[in-house]
Amino acid sequence: MTEEFESRIEALRAEIKEHNYRYYILDDPAIPDTEYDRLLHELKRLEEKLGEPVPADSPTQTVGAPISTTFTAREHGMPLLSLADIFDSSDVHDYDRRIHQLLEDKPCTYIAEPKIDGLAINLRYVEGHLDVAATRGDGRVGEDVTGNVRTIADIPWRLKGDCPPLLEVRGEVYIPKRAFEELNSLQQQNEKKVFANPRNAAAGSLRQIDPRVTAKRPLHFFAYGVGLGGEGLAQTQYQLLEWLKRAGFPVQDVAVLEDADALLDHYRHMLEIRPHLDYEIDGVVYKVNELSLHRLLGERSRSPRWAIAHKFPAEEAQTSVLDIEFQVGRTGALTPVARLEPVSVGGVTVSNATLHNMDEIRRKDVRVGDSVMVRRAGDVIPEVVRVLPELRPRDARTVVLPSICPECGSAVIQSEEEAVARCSGGLFCKAQVKEAIKHFSSRRAMDIDGLGSKLVEQMVDQHVIRHVDDLYRLNKEQVAGLERMGERSAKNLLRAIEDSKQTTLERFVYALGVREVGEATAVSLARHFGTLEHIMQASEEELQNAPEVGPVVASHVVTFFAQPHNREVIAHLLEAGISWPDVEPDTSNNRLFGHTYVITGALSNFSRSEAKQELEALGARVSASVSAKTTAVIAGENPGSKLDKAQQLAVPVLSEGDLQSLLKGSSLI
Ligand code: NAD
Repeated sequence: MTEEFESRIEALRAEIKEHNYRYYILDDPAIPDTEYDRLLHELKRLEEKLGEPVPADSPTQTVGAPISTTFTAREHGMPLLSLADIFDSSDVHDYDRRIHQLLEDKPCTYIAEPKIDGLAINLRYVEGHLDVAATRGDGRVGEDVTGNVRTIADIPWRLKGDCPPLLEVRGEVYIPKRAFEELNSLQQQNEKKVFANPRNAAAGSLRQIDPRVTAKRPLHFFAYGVGLGGEGLAQTQYQLLEWLKRAGFPVQDVAVLEDADALLDHYRHMLEIRPHLDYEIDGVVYKVNELSLHRLLGERSRSPRWAIAHKFPAEEAQTSVLDIEFQVGRTGALTPVARLEPVSVGGVTVSNATLHNMDEIRRKDVRVGDSVMVRRAGDVIPEVVRVLPELRPRDARTVVLPSICPECGSAVIQSEEEAVARCSGGLFCKAQVKEAIKHFSSRRAMDIDGLGSKLVEQMVDQHVIRHVDDLYRLNKEQVAGLERMGERSAKNLLRAIEDSKQTTLERFVYALGVREVGEATAVSLARHFGTLEHIMQASEEELQNAPEVGPVVASHVVTFFAQPHNREVIAHLLEAGISWPDVEPDTSNNRLFGHTYVITGALSNFSRSEAKQELEALGARVSASVSAKTTAVIAGENPGSKLDKAQQLAVPVLSEGDLQSLLKGSSLI
């Protein structure tokens, strides 16, 4: 047994060292962090089980990796350690208990700092001037990247105020989220390496031989600590951060907290605000706030005892692609979807991920059988981030776009101008029919309460309905005969269908599901033409007179109403009693009909939404973006980029006073 243990331990040490090298030296990890953490935890567990002294060079005892020869070695005045990590709420209580034991119940508080997903850097200031900047390296010796660090605007070359003659400042270099996306797409365009995450991108950007390359990278910095020379600057970590701020460094928002419960509340709060921060964080660092207690608590080989990282659940995880299928949407668009070996991503089980379209599959080279990284961010549909080519099995299968629709067998058409391929089956295609009915009955369209997706699918599959107009012919027996449908729900559903007959022209137009006709376009068509007949009869040119309607939308509208089938369904719907109040464009209380306004900046006499309502009450449209068709831009205090856009497009600009006159009846425009 011991032999078996020993050989596994050895294999793990070798494997982890290899990953450390790729991660810390090449900035090009071969496996995801979760997989790395799993290996490291396994090694730790086995070393503990074996019960023998652990060699100092075991990855469980070391920080980072020995530095590369590309850079000059720089010894830190005081070691830069890593942090031990914890994942569960019980770990937080354990940590708090341990700290109190070690401190023999001396009073202490904690500070909670966001854990920035970047790389640590040690900045040595001599007489207040930046002298040397070095990466963490193996914790004792780092790589000299002074020239590169001087290109980071957040890092002062000279400290403000009084400071010790020699001072080490520690903090994290990082790349904001948006800039990371932009950097990766630029790398891709230039056929260069795409970074696995913001941390690798920051490390790769900082560890450049040529500072001119670093200068082009969007690197930022937060300070969070001091090394040599920092004793006596403050009593608490909180005061230290204040000191660093005064010296000219950006520091993060932090919280001082009393106990484990407060830490956990704060952790949950950070999880919630995480998506709104403009940089990535991968957890919260808890530190004992009183600096004098740090000396009492001391350090272990790779991490201090006075701090711990409470990691967030991974939002990326590794899994494998079991199959790639094509889903057909309302407009016939075929979307490839990867069926995955179920995996937990950020606490949610993911078994499907979108691959968007064929171009995306080709670009990422995703094959059935591949190991892939999947990402889930907020509520969005999980997506395949990238393939792990080194784990590709020999029999991995490439997918081709089906030539016929997997749902109805009609031909699939891939047009030149769009990436999307579509089923040509139209209303013969069950998948399209289902999606069309779901759209028709949705809340912002006909608003049929209680008609959920599962029910629609069941009704179409059982041939209870074939088109949207069939909804208005349903009877009690048909509805009550459906699975999981009690008498009462059947009654409610029929009532909701009946109620939906009273609608508005714009909702009805939107509900029809004409390609590219969203709610705003439906409103524009309804207001411009006033009646359904006028919209149905309008030519492409006439349609384009409506605000926000361009040639593509106009052509979709004409094509839609030219289909005899669509005309027939509309006739049935009207016969069934669907109706709406007249919207004849009435110029008396519709003075601003056909005009589009954009509001920017703060108004003093109205809120923006009040101004919008008043304009709309006079028939105007209020849009969020400026285009050549905008009638005028109304600019309040501190206007945004919309004002610049208006000036570029020579769109008239009105003041708040002009707006008031306009509402009162003057015809400024
Ligand atoms: P770490 O990143 O988990 O924690 C320590 C670091 O946190 C510090 O060095 C500092 O840089 C940073 N930090 C951010 N905010 C901070 C704050 N407010 N206060 C103090 N420190 C702060 O530890 P590590 O040793 O740098 O790296 C381990 C991580 O790297 C793990 O997540 C591991 O999965 C990953 N890793 C992955 C691979 C791979 O092959 N995928 C290989 C090696 C390491």
